[in-house]
Amino acid sequence: MKLLCPARSLLSAAALAGLLLCALFVAPRAGYADVSAITDYRVISQTGVGPGGKPLVAIRSLRRDGIPLFLTVDPYTLETALRPVSQVSLLPAPPWETLSGTPYLTALEHGTAPPCRLQNHGAVRGAGDGIFLTVDLCPSKRQFERELFLAAEAAAQAHGYGKGAPVAVAISGLWLENHPEELAFLKGESAAGRLSITWVNHSYHHVYAPKTPLERNFLLTPGTNFDAEVLELERLLLAHGLTPSPFFRFPGLVADTATMKRLRELSLIPVGSEAWLAKGEHPRQGSIVLVHGNGNEPKGIALALPILRTGRWRLLPLAAAFANDQCPVPNLRPLPQEAASVPRGATVTPPKASF
Ligand SMILES: [Zn+2]
Repeated sequence: MKLLCPARSLLSAAALAGLLLCALFVAPRAGYADVSAITDYRVISQTGVGPGGKPLVAIRSLRRDGIPLFLTVDPYTLETALRPVSQVSLLPAPPWETLSGTPYLTALEHGTAPPCRLQNHGAVRGAGDGIFLTVDLCPSKRQFERELFLAAEAAAQAHGYGKGAPVAVAISGLWLENHPEELAFLKGESAAGRLSITWVNHSYHHVYAPKTPLERNFLLTPGTNFDAEVLELERLLLAHGLTPSPFFRFPGLVADTATMKRLRELSLIPVGSEAWLAKGEHPRQGSIVLVHGNGNEPKGIALALPILRTGRWRLLPLAAAFANDQCPVPNLRPLPQEAASVPRGATVTPPKASF
């Protein structure tokens, strides 16, 4: 079943609930098979305890093909997972009270803290002896940069990285919708263990007007439904069997105070870049590197390919940029089962940081 409304509806003033409803009745687009139905999609923010007593943060509740699930974030590794509701015990206190100081909440707090810069607010580098490679897939009709991913695989092999080349792919909905073969390539390389992709939300439409000032461009374009741009991309990933990470890359790296505040309420961490290669910025150890894999910036790819192929970059997974081995694990007590109900469509606003 196809999940998306016609494109213009996302930019209309239609309420998100109505948008999700209409999403259920759109026919599948050619080129895709095995697309799941994602329904009852809701933003939540609750502390939970998962299998083995591990603390987690539930950030979305949903049904995939009718099965109730939580999208959860490990507050220590920042890894996301889809978990059956029956495997998660929710706690009465919100994450900001129970898990403050964990790498996830620290990254969320620091990344979205005001004042917001118009461009490149959020994480631009991380801990670790290596490079965090991020590849943007903005909407494009140009040639997909397949060689970049193959070169990343070669770089990972050169460094003996056994889990597949760690690459963060910042994907837009319109790119995903129009590139079934390229998406199949990325999924295939992942399934074969050659790539280890962190799926970063790059918004659904990624609106851009070349001659418009940044203050009114990208997600700041008047009339933009920010929630829909974020949540519909998540739903699209989930429908295609991909798990969204807790990371968000603003199109053009452009944001304002309001969108940054809302991103925080959606429990997502903004990811900028210290080294946008096509703009002449040079990476160093720990840099979050930005290139475009959609054919829009061949200059950046031309710079990255020889470096990757000769193994000069030790690639690291994006989540590792926020790791902190020193953080203690709290002792959390689950709610009685009957009290651990999921708030319907609730969004818990973190109490810290005033905007
Ligand atoms: Zn982009």
